[in-house]
Amino acid sequence: MSDNDDLVFIDDEQQPAEEPNEAPPWRILVADDDEGVHDVTRFALATVSVLGRPLALLHAHSGAEALVMLRQQPDIAVILLDVVMESDDAGLRLVEAIRSDQSLANTRIILRTGQPGHAPEAETISRYDINDYRTKAELSERRLLASLTMAIRSFDQLQRLDAHRRGLEMIVSASNQLNAKPGVRAFAEGLITQIAALVGVPADGLVCACAEKPTQAGDGIQHQVIAAAGQFAPLIHHRLNEIDDPRIRRALQGALQERASHIGRHSATLFFAKTADTGFAAFVGSAQPIPPIDLELIEVFCSNIALCAKNVDLVAELRRDAFVDRQLALPNRNALIVELNRRAQVAPHGDGVLAVVDVDQFATVNDILGQHYGDLVLQRAAARLRERFAPPAFVARLAGDAFAIVGQHDELGPASIRDCFASPFVLMGIQQPLSVSAGVVHLNAGFRAGGEYLADAYLALKRAKASGLAQVVTFTADLANEVRSRARLLDDLRRAFQGRQLHLAYQPQIDLASNRVVGVEALLRWCQGDGTMVPPADFIPIAEQSGLIIDLGRWLLREGLQGLHRLRAAGVPDLRLAVNVSAIELRHPEFASNVQTTLRDLAIPAAALELEITESLAIGNCEATIEALAALRASGVTVAIDDFGTGYSSLAYLDRLPADRLKIDRSFVATLPDEDRNPRIPRTIIALGRELGLRIVAEGVEQQSVATAAHALGCHEAQGYHFARPMPEAELIDWLQTRPSADA
Ligand code: C2E
Ligand code: CA
Ligand code: CA
Repeated sequence: MSDNDDLVFIDDEQQPAEEPNEAPPWRILVADDDEGVHDVTRFALATVSVLGRPLALLHAHSGAEALVMLRQQPDIAVILLDVVMESDDAGLRLVEAIRSDQSLANTRIILRTGQPGHAPEAETISRYDINDYRTKAELSERRLLASLTMAIRSFDQLQRLDAHRRGLEMIVSASNQLNAKPGVRAFAEGLITQIAALVGVPADGLVCACAEKPTQAGDGIQHQVIAAAGQFAPLIHHRLNEIDDPRIRRALQGALQERASHIGRHSATLFFAKTADTGFAAFVGSAQPIPPIDLELIEVFCSNIALCAKNVDLVAELRRDAFVDRQLALPNRNALIVELNRRAQVAPHGDGVLAVVDVDQFATVNDILGQHYGDLVLQRAAARLRERFAPPAFVARLAGDAFAIVGQHDELGPASIRDCFASPFVLMGIQQPLSVSAGVVHLNAGFRAGGEYLADAYLALKRAKASGLAQVVTFTADLANEVRSRARLLDDLRRAFQGRQLHLAYQPQIDLASNRVVGVEALLRWCQGDGTMVPPADFIPIAEQSGLIIDLGRWLLREGLQGLHRLRAAGVPDLRLAVNVSAIELRHPEFASNVQTTLRDLAIPAAALELEITESLAIGNCEATIEALAALRASGVTVAIDDFGTGYSSLAYLDRLPADRLKIDRSFVATLPDEDRNPRIPRTIIALGRELGLRIVAEGVEQQSVATAAHALGCHEAQGYHFARPMPEAELIDWLQTRPSADA
């Protein structure tokens, strides 16, 4: 506490005069079975006062009676105790009871014995914390008083120590409680309660803030009541000089000007310094007299609370940060959750809607045109959203390029969201068309937590994003079920993988000119416990999304290459193994090195491995991937472009992709023999592929006629049910061994 926050103790001048000698008396218990001793003591102490307080005598005639009195009045300061009463040791038994009772630990004991023979042992005296003992004859009036005064002093000190300890405990708990209060108002209101508890009177008071340096004139103009409770509650937000009660007004003004606390008989006014210039004062009035309280305790209390007040300011600042996105000056995700929860309280089954909106291809814009430009895009997008969805609609920024809008069903539909971005933005002189995708959820499911609605909206957004640009998807129970069943499927897949329930099937690839088997394509098979097969088209996408495909792919590669060894051991001539590699696997930085290590580990020539990739890969603009592929090719591994002709039309990318083979998708292949079905596209593809020096493979050949046509049109190889279905390894070996010899 700084020098100018001195603490002073004053009497309230305005207080009505109290009856004289109001201070509570010291209670002295006389326990003796000799009535004469009671009389003598009463007489001797009749007019005595100790430390400014009178004495009040209580009389007991047995140990048992004394104990009852002590229990009823625990504030007895001293007990003048006869050793021999109803029994020889009644006095000592009472001593034992007093000291084993925690609430009586401070009561002082003066033993009086009839004869010297009954004096207690020194050991007893120290064990029971007995202050003094005298034979009754020894206790003259003067000596009794001296003994008693000492005992009362020591009782008083013990009591103060206790109060101090309790006070400190209270201050710690007050600080803890006040630190948890959000905002200045709540803090001030909590403070009144804490002060009242500290000074030991019922809470009833007000708090006054002082924002500016108080003027020496003390007009108090700039002082405002920031919180009030009890009978003073209506004073909130009034000026200090508008307080009618001059006693309160003066006490607060005094405290603020002097930067000091004042404890009166019926009021406590405490000053809390925030900085060298600012601070606030709190007044607590009390109808009951305020018990004496340690000055140091008040001091500790005030400086602790002032610290708490600083924390409150800090917390308010942090809260502002916690709810606002500084970059775009929009409410953030936390604020959105609060808003959703609020709306759920107000109208749990209303027609509110939450839309999570995401700028399409923002990352690309950011990459190509730079981050500064990207920031500009976000600012303009935010402005548009705010303008289009003005309050009572609510716009927040969730993260990056994702925004949330809360509004009514009729104003926040797919059309209005798309409209909002229909006209292009003009940024730094560039016309920038932007579109958004959105996930929408209706806020009518009752008291759901805001976070749950948000999760649903995100789910719908994810679906929207997956289906292209400028899509708006509304969350439905079906969507949730689908997501849930996908999650279950992933879980099952993981188990199946760990439990070795995944196997490979091999489908032969035939050279059309020689009719020889030149290779096999490894295809994943998942046979569930009950014998049902899960088609790869169902589980591969899930494995890709979850990243499980990385481990799966590594296992599959090793498994397939080991299979080649077993085929050779079975006497099958060397075959090429083709494995499907998804984009996720290819983008993995260790993909190429893993392939090479596996080949080396198993001592298999690189030329025996072919990687089947899909052409969409080339579109991702991933130079690193293309480089990794080129490196693998340089080492001898061959690359086939799978499903060619589907997906993105990409003839233009073809010469960028390092490839050896082109697999024409079976949807085209089926049309090859049929002039009426316009097989111009596959024919062009075959011609172009050949032009680029690629080997052409026809996929999904189901009839001899297709095989013949494919061969005639320039396909080198073919694969399909016409030749063989994908088979387990053992079946493949059989099939290969029994197949009529090549060159037929
Ligand atoms: P894909 O790579 O195009 O594989 C060829 C698919 O066509 C296989 O289906 C095969 O069983 C089927 N097929 C072969 N010949 C014929 C035919 O004559 N007629 C018809 N109608 N279908 C034929 P499958 O095994 O269901 O695989 C589906 C897709 O799953 C594969 O298409 C591939 O994209 C993916 N896949 C399968 N295994 C793996 C794998 O180990 N890794 C990765 N990344 N993807 C895999
Ligand atoms: Ca394939
Ligand atoms: Ca294919």
